[in-house]
Amino acid sequence: MMQTIIIIGGGIGGAATALALSHAGLEPVVYERTQALREVGAGIALWANATHVLKNLGLLEDAIRVGALTSNYQFNSQQGKELVDIAIDRFELPVIGIHRAELHQLLWRRVAEEKFVLGETFERFEHRDNRVVAHFTSGLQVEGDALIGADGLRSQVRTALLGNNPPQYRNFKTWRGLTDYVPREYRSGYIQEFLGDGKGFGFMKLGQGKMYWYAAATAPEAQPDAAMGRKKELEIMYQDWFPAIPELISATDETQILTTDLYDRPPTQPWSHQNITLLGDAAHPMLPTMGQGACTALEDAYVIAQCLKAQPDPNLAFQQYEALRFPRTKAIVEASLRSAKMGELANPLAVGLRNRFMQLMGAAIGRSFTSFHAYRA
Ligand SMILES: Cc1cc2nc3c(=O)[nH]c(=O)nc-3n(C[C@H](O)[C@H](O)[C@H](O)COP(=O)(O)OP(=O)(O)OC[C@H]3O[C@@H](n4cnc5c(N)ncnc54)[C@H](O)[C@@H]3O)c2cc1C
Repeated sequence: MMQTIIIIGGGIGGAATALALSHAGLEPVVYERTQALREVGAGIALWANATHVLKNLGLLEDAIRVGALTSNYQFNSQQGKELVDIAIDRFELPVIGIHRAELHQLLWRRVAEEKFVLGETFERFEHRDNRVVAHFTSGLQVEGDALIGADGLRSQVRTALLGNNPPQYRNFKTWRGLTDYVPREYRSGYIQEFLGDGKGFGFMKLGQGKMYWYAAATAPEAQPDAAMGRKKELEIMYQDWFPAIPELISATDETQILTTDLYDRPPTQPWSHQNITLLGDAAHPMLPTMGQGACTALEDAYVIAQCLKAQPDPNLAFQQYEALRFPRTKAIVEASLRSAKMGELANPLAVGLRNRFMQLMGAAIGRSFTSFHAYRA
C-alpha cells in the first residue's frame, strides 16, 4: 500500500515536497493554515543547486519561461563603485530570478488539488502504533505513516517535537519591493548589491519585466514603521546612494513594500524523531544573505523524497535525510550569518576596510559562492 505522508505547511518547501513525493510514488497530503495557497510579492534567485532540483521535477523550462536568466552577482560600494563581480552562470544549469508566487505556483499546480487541505492549523501530534496522528485547531485529526513539518520559521511541528526554543533575531530588518521600473543603470542579467554603513541595498530582474529590490538595515527587533511611512523612510535612508536605488524606491507603490525582521537558528541536531521530521525554514532557518533559504528547501524536498523512495521505513528514511541535509544546511546557515556580520559594520573606517577586503578577496568570495552552487541534491 502507498505510504501516506502528512506535510504541515504549503509554502515553497511544503509544495515542493508534495510534488517530489508524488513523483516518488508516495501519497502526500499538505495541511496549510491559510485559506489560499499564496506567496508574498517578492523575488528570489534560484541558483544552480536549486535549478537542478527544478530540472529533476520537470519544471526547469517553465521556470525559465516565467523568470529571468541571471549571469552575474556584483557587489558595489553605496555609491556604485564595483567591489566584486562574480560570474554565477558557469554551471550546466541556469540561475533564474523569479517571483516567489510564480515559483510557488509551478510547484503546487503539478500536484492534485485534493492533496492540499487549506485553512487547517496544526496543533500537535501523537503516535498511534507505528503511525502518527496530527491534530488541528479545528478539531480535525488525520493519521499517516509519517509527518513532515514544513511550517516555516516559527514551526509548530518543531515546537511539538523539540520544545519551544525561539529563533534568534539577528539585528537586521529588511524591506522588499517590486516595480515595473527598470533603472537606466541596471546591468542586464545582474544581481547588483550595494553595501554601506549598517545597511545595504540590492536589485535584480525577475520575469515579465519586473524589478525586485531589497534593502536591509540594522534595527531593534519589531521596530515599527517611521511615522512618515516606510517608503518615505527608505527614500531618506538611501537618498545619496547610487542613483538607481532612490529611483527604484520612488517608483514602487508603498503598498508593495514588505518589511520583515531577520532570524535564524544556530544549527542543532536532531530535527527528526521516529517518523516525524522538519524541512525548509522549520529545520534550518537562515539569514537571506546567501539567498539560499528557499533553494535549500527545494533540495530538502528532493532528498527526502529520494530517501523515502529508497527506504520504506520512514524512521530510517528520515535519519538518512537528516544525515544528508544537516552538514549542507549548517554550512549555509553559518555562511549566511558571517556574511550578515560584514553588513553590520557601521563606522566609516570599518566600512572602508570591509570594501577593500572584498576587492582583494574577490576571487575567494567567488569560489565560496561557486562551492555552494555546485552542490547537486
Ligand atoms: C527578506 C528575505 C529574503 C529572502 N530571499 C531569499 C532568496 O533570495 N532566495 C532564497 O532561496 N530564499 C530567500 N529567503 C528565504 C525563503 O523565503 C525561505 O527560506 C523559504 O520561504 C522557506 O520556505 P518554507 O516552505 O520552509 O517556509 P515558509 O515559506 O515560511 O512556509 C511555511 C508555510 O507553513 C504554513 N504554516 C505555518 N504554521 C502552520 C501551522 N501551524 N499549520 C499549518 N500550516 C502552517 C504557513 O502559512 C506557510 O504557508 C528570503 C527570506 C527573507 C525573509
